[in-house]
Amino acid sequence: MTTPPSRRIHLSVPHMGAHELAYVREAFATNWLSSVGPNLDAFEADFRDLMSGLPCVALASGTAALHLGLRLLGVGPGDEVLCPSLTFVASTNAVRYLGAEPVLVDSERTSWNMDPALVAEALAEGRAKGRLPRAVVVVHLYGQSADLDPILEVCAEYGVPVLEDAAEAAGTHYKGRQVGGMAPLGVFSFNGNKIITTTGGGMLVGHDEAQIAKARFWSQQARDPGIAYEHSELGYNYRMSNVLAGIGRGQLEVLEARVQARRAVAARYEQAFADLDGLALMPEAPWGRHTRWLSVFLVDERRLGASRDALVAALARDDIESRPVWKPMHMQPLYAAARRYGGVVAEDLFARGICLPSSSSLTAEEQDRVIAGVRAACGARGQSRGVATSSSPEGACAR
Ligand SMILES: *Cc1c(COP(=O)(O)O)cnc(C)c1O
Repeated sequence: MTTPPSRRIHLSVPHMGAHELAYVREAFATNWLSSVGPNLDAFEADFRDLMSGLPCVALASGTAALHLGLRLLGVGPGDEVLCPSLTFVASTNAVRYLGAEPVLVDSERTSWNMDPALVAEALAEGRAKGRLPRAVVVVHLYGQSADLDPILEVCAEYGVPVLEDAAEAAGTHYKGRQVGGMAPLGVFSFNGNKIITTTGGGMLVGHDEAQIAKARFWSQQARDPGIAYEHSELGYNYRMSNVLAGIGRGQLEVLEARVQARRAVAARYEQAFADLDGLALMPEAPWGRHTRWLSVFLVDERRLGASRDALVAALARDDIESRPVWKPMHMQPLYAAARRYGGVVAEDLFARGICLPSSSSLTAEEQDRVIAGVRAACGARGQSRGVATSSSPEGACAR
């Protein structure tokens, strides 16, 4: 009568800890089933601890947090906002929600994030033309911090505020500190595929209590004080529910364990592919801790003997999900007309990057299947249990 376990291996699945359900039950038992309640208060307090005491507000999604954060920075119609081209579309969509246009900046190769030199170039050119961007969105991709210091420095020099899109970066460190709190505003996502999840949700973090209070106000339809439904400002229905905040409380308790598990997954892939000359794990930049939210590899088709797309297709035939790296925004129909600074690095990472199954709940047996699938696709001799073979130093795949 029981259904057989699915053979399908997904890219990144939710992984609950021991306490989420208890917090959710508590919400049901006490009937706090709306957008106020003890789970919300506790989740925000716990997140505040993670952020070394910075105020924060729990929201319906990371996208909602980006929207409110950019509005707090005064982004509006006719403005330009610098964004990395290599990101998930939500980063730039939030700019458009406010009637502004993203200006797309290429990545550097050390972390795959926004290139500080190009940010400096864009700001210098903006000043020369008398048109500075209203804000800069810096993204921490796949669990790795951008090189924040030079970006924050040059932006401070020009008086342009920065928002950190840390949607993929809970647990990510820059110079020993959690990212998302270094700029005036930071955004996190708890979508179902992220390293911790509330099924759907987000967090906006800031340095100014009044700003975060304003975002909280906007997130609840901007209803003015008093019992009448009076509104002087435009609001949104963006608040997180007390039920989902209960999931968030439990997930925060296991964040560090999830980081360690994901890093172990990446390390095991790296070891298993050590003899493959044309397959390289995304670098870990010297300035921080990569959580390996996703295990991302770069394919060198000539040396590996298989293309990225061939790997994706071969894995799919074995019911294993893998994905290309994010398609850069300047290659998207939606943003094809956007101004940009460079783009060839992002294009190369997109063309050759592959995200492998990376769940913190991935079993060794499942990971062995992924490893075997990759090795078979490039014609490498099999190896067992993810232990690197020592046969050929150049790798069986090398041509
Ligand atoms: C997931 C993600 C978002 C959006 O978060 P949601 O909670 O899904 O709305 C924004 N930016 C980046 C870089 C993301 O990966």
